[in-house]
Amino acid sequence: MAIRDIRLFGDPVLNTVADEVVHFDAQLRRLVSDMLETMDNAGGVGLAGNQVGVARRVFVFDCQGMRGHLVNPVWRPLGEQMQHGREGCLSVPGITGDVTRHDTVVARGVDMFGRPAALRATGLLARCIQHETDHIDGVMFMRRMDSAQRKEVMSQIRRNG
Ligand SMILES: [Zn+2]
Repeated sequence: MAIRDIRLFGDPVLNTVADEVVHFDAQLRRLVSDMLETMDNAGGVGLAGNQVGVARRVFVFDCQGMRGHLVNPVWRPLGEQMQHGREGCLSVPGITGDVTRHDTVVARGVDMFGRPAALRATGLLARCIQHETDHIDGVMFMRRMDSAQRKEVMSQIRRNG
């Protein structure tokens, strides 16, 4: 296992739509274990492939006592309820902003061996799944903020350099 460099906002890989995973090989297993270690080292609750420079549809998570990974994930909301709250991103250190997300989701995909995997999540884990799936679609969380908040956050990022 190895800690990989986390790509920061401004790196084009973060705006790249990641490719479906088609090879369930040792390289993928190494990627997943490196991503878990990198997330732990950074103190995060989730990390997507793009964030370590690998534009493949995979993310890892560790929150609410649930730890794991999902390959080729898709999610859908369960119910109408939304959650509004603070969100951060390891690729934009020191910055948080309010983002509205679905409160409960079901995510489906496969694991690193290609076996079907599904996960029902509420609250922070549901937020994490939506945030990480956005990453593999090349979408940063600032795009989910309202325009006033996004302006504020972008000027904060410019101030931080
Ligand atoms: Zn993020």
